[in-house]
Amino acid sequence: MSRKIEQNVRQVLSELPEGVHLVVAAKVTEPEVILQAIAGGARIIGENYVQEAERAYQVVGDRVRWHFIGHLQKNKVKKAMGIFDMIETVDSVAIAREIDKWCAQSGKIMPVLVEVNIGREAQKPGVLPENVEPLLREISGLANIRVQGLMTLGPAGAAPEDSRPYFAGMKKLLDRIESLGLANVEMRYLSMGMTGSYQVALGEGANIVRLGSRVFNPCSREGLGLT
Ligand SMILES: *Cc1c(COP(=O)(O)O)cnc(C)c1O
Repeated sequence: MSRKIEQNVRQVLSELPEGVHLVVAAKVTEPEVILQAIAGGARIIGENYVQEAERAYQVVGDRVRWHFIGHLQKNKVKKAMGIFDMIETVDSVAIAREIDKWCAQSGKIMPVLVEVNIGREAQKPGVLPENVEPLLREISGLANIRVQGLMTLGPAGAAPEDSRPYFAGMKKLLDRIESLGLANVEMRYLSMGMTGSYQVALGEGANIVRLGSRVFNPCSREGLGLT
C-alpha cells in the first residue's frame, strides 16, 4: 500500500513534461500518507481546508511547499498565512486585501493565483473571465501579494476531452492578461487539470496540475483517468 503511493508519484513525475509542477491534492489524507507521497518525490502539497493543512503541516513541516486550493474564508486567512506558500484560489478583492493585510503584519509576500470560473457555471467558485482584468487592476497595487497566474477547476465534463475548449480559453486569457503588462502581475503559472483531465490540460498549456485520486486512489475510475 505505502509503496504503491510512492510509485504512483514517481510514475506521474516521470510522465510530466519538463517545467510542469505537480501539486498532490491531499484532501483529507492522513499526514502519514502524505509522507509516502513525499517519499515518491512530491514537492508541493495542495490542501482544501486550512484546518486539515494545519494538522498535516505539524507532521510534514517545511520540507515541501504548501498550496491552498480550496475556498478561503476570511476568518481563516491569518492562520493560512503561516502555512501556505501559495494561495491558488483568490477570487475577490476582499480576500486579496485580507491576505495582503496579514502578510504585511508578518513581513511576508504571498504568491497568489486568481481562480477563474471559465465554464461560467452557477455555484462554481472563481471569477468570470471578463472580471479577471478588473480584479487584477484592483489588487495589483497590494504590496504584500504577487499575482503569478491563473487557476481553474474547469467544468466537470463527462469526458476529459469536454474540458479542452475551457482549458484553451484559460490559456488565451492568461496570454491576454500577460500582454497588458500590469504592475506586480506576472502570468507564470496556469494551474489546471485534475486526475481525469490533466493530460488534456497539459496539451493546452497547464504548468501546474493538481492530482489527488491519481496518487492516492489509482484503482478508482478517476484514478485511471477513465472518467
Ligand atoms: C480534489 C481536488 C483536486 C484533485 O482531484 P482528483 O480528481 O482527485 O485528482 C484538484 N484540485 C482541487 C481544487 C481539488 O479540490
